Amino acid sequence: MKLPVYLDYAASTPVDPRVAKLMGDCLTMEGNFGNPASRSHVYGWQAEEAVEEARRQVADLIGAEPREIVWTSGATESNNLAIKGVLEQYGEERGRHIITSAIEHKAVLDPCQYLQSRGCEVTFLQPDDQGLISVEQVRQALRPDTVLVSLMHVNNEIGVINPVAGVGELCRSRDILFHVDAAQSAGKLPVNVQAMHIDLLSLSAHKFYGPKGMGALFVRRQPQVRVAPLIHGGGHERGMRSGTLATHQIAGMGKAAQLARQEQSDELERIASLKDLLWGSIRDLPGVSLNGHPEQRLPSILNVAFDGLDGEMLLMSLKDLAISTGSACTSASLEPSYVLRAIGVDTQLAHSSLRISLGRFTDRAQVEFAIQHIRSTVERMRAVTGQTV
Ligand SMILES: *Cc1c(COP(=O)(O)O)cnc(C)c1O
Repeated sequence: MKLPVYLDYAASTPVDPRVAKLMGDCLTMEGNFGNPASRSHVYGWQAEEAVEEARRQVADLIGAEPREIVWTSGATESNNLAIKGVLEQYGEERGRHIITSAIEHKAVLDPCQYLQSRGCEVTFLQPDDQGLISVEQVRQALRPDTVLVSLMHVNNEIGVINPVAGVGELCRSRDILFHVDAAQSAGKLPVNVQAMHIDLLSLSAHKFYGPKGMGALFVRRQPQVRVAPLIHGGGHERGMRSGTLATHQIAGMGKAAQLARQEQSDELERIASLKDLLWGSIRDLPGVSLNGHPEQRLPSILNVAFDGLDGEMLLMSLKDLAISTGSACTSASLEPSYVLRAIGVDTQLAHSSLRISLGRFTDRAQVEFAIQHIRSTVERMRAVTGQTV
């Protein structure tokens, strides 16, 4: 078994070998290397064909039309484009109030805070102690000048699933734009922009076995939504995102989306049973509890509190497991997770919490190894500190 065992799929996933193969075929002289915008020769036409096939594959994953997909460098850029783009496009005419939640990814919180510093008003909804935002909460926060609601589908630290379809219906009935950060859900759970009444949706390829540095933003055409671009030059992607399209990255994301669509329901079931095995085998340890809603969650993400043990020390002792204390983006800071704090976990318990996330290449042997490693480490640390909780 390769050590440490990788159980940090929520931070990033390895590229599926079938995806890597296709990407490799889009790089060299022998492959599909041309500029998709070149109109005068076959190299360009073939590259364009690969890009358009990928556009269909990504659109199919979320129930969209190919023309509604805008390529970006990842979900961070997609979130920025959606939020800043909508405010720039509609702020003057419709109002400058945004509703989001306090436990969004930084790639939503930071653009919102930036806009706040430029005169927009932002309501940061507080989740309940299970980590969920309710439709009713959003309804209460709506104002005549609300232009955008931005809510994540699945939270990247605790894995809970927000009621996006209900929020979408509410927003549509009030003519308010609805953006969803689906970086953690797309390719794992069914996502349908029609059924969920979503106007803008962010995707990240490296969260579903595609390459890093690649993403997409769904921008609705019926009724038509516009976003002002962040990047000008050349007018690619219907003017919303200029720059030469990265054929290999795009083809990789397309292939990853196609594989996810074919395999996601089997994969979800398989991962759910591995998660049940893992959680079922450590939950009886003294002081162990689960952060976030026990059922309304993605099975691949477990955020576990080990009361009385220091998370950093536990992480170091669990050296044969590649896991994290929170999100990869904030793991450099010594502050406890803002997500856990917002759902009412006290500072100490937040410092005692670890995120374990499973994925496509997690197998039973790895999970059994993780169980033994966690059990023996926790028991040893408790013996040393003399704590039984
Ligand atoms: C990973 C992640 C992002 C950032 O995606 P990148 O493609 O790495 O920029 C945004 N939101 C959520 C919920 C994520 O999990």
